[in-house]
Amino acid sequence: MTKGRMRGVRVPLIVLLGFGLLIGVAGSVMAVPEATEVLATTKQGGVINATRFGPTGAPTKVLVIGQMHGTEPAGRAVVRNLAHRLVGETKIPADTVIWLISTINPDGDAAGTRVNASGVDLNHNFPQDWRQQGGGTSSWSGPSAGSESETAAVLAFLDRIQPTAVLSFHQPFAVVDITHEASRAAGRKLATWVGLPARVVGCPGPCYGTLTGWVDGHLSAIALTVELPGKVSGAGVKRSATAVLRLTRWLAR
Ligand SMILES: [Zn+2]
Repeated sequence: MTKGRMRGVRVPLIVLLGFGLLIGVAGSVMAVPEATEVLATTKQGGVINATRFGPTGAPTKVLVIGQMHGTEPAGRAVVRNLAHRLVGETKIPADTVIWLISTINPDGDAAGTRVNASGVDLNHNFPQDWRQQGGGTSSWSGPSAGSESETAAVLAFLDRIQPTAVLSFHQPFAVVDITHEASRAAGRKLATWVGLPARVVGCPGPCYGTLTGWVDGHLSAIALTVELPGKVSGAGVKRSATAVLRLTRWLAR
């Protein structure tokens, strides 16, 4: 069995893992995944998972959603990179938790469609200024606010964890959207670290039923859409993941 060292006493690593966090220097900790939970199973049998790094009671809670539209895979790679680093040597502040969701649209991801298996654009299905719109297109809002199981699962999860910040990855517009005023300072920091401009992007007309609109309006939390470019290199993925970690440390300061 692998051995670890804590307070000068050699103990089995498995015991250390039982503590959930390995204590490091200056209030930082090496996080280990404390829990992975299934938030929902979707129409086509896809699974929405959330994995937690850090203690549930942490005051700074960052949620990263890698993918909402099935045709935009780069954010999933960012989440994979984050998970790999958080399992490894990367440290985060002790009073911080990072939640990772690879995709909230597994059916769209499997089918290679922007929409879910019911033809709904999840980013118009949230109950913040929801309007029926986009019928017959890949921007359909769905039949009612929060009608989709994916949306309902994310809403219940957000209500439960009450995040400090939600980062939602998309492609391909190469910009960090700082539409929401309360998110602008964080968004500008993140944009600098990701290497993209920060801009108020908004929607053609008002934004109806968006995830970040709901997070901003209902939870008063930081809500940022990170639009990566259409093609993202391995270095770009790593830089985005590093930016998330830097933002987490900045929020916990
Ligand atoms: Zn998108």
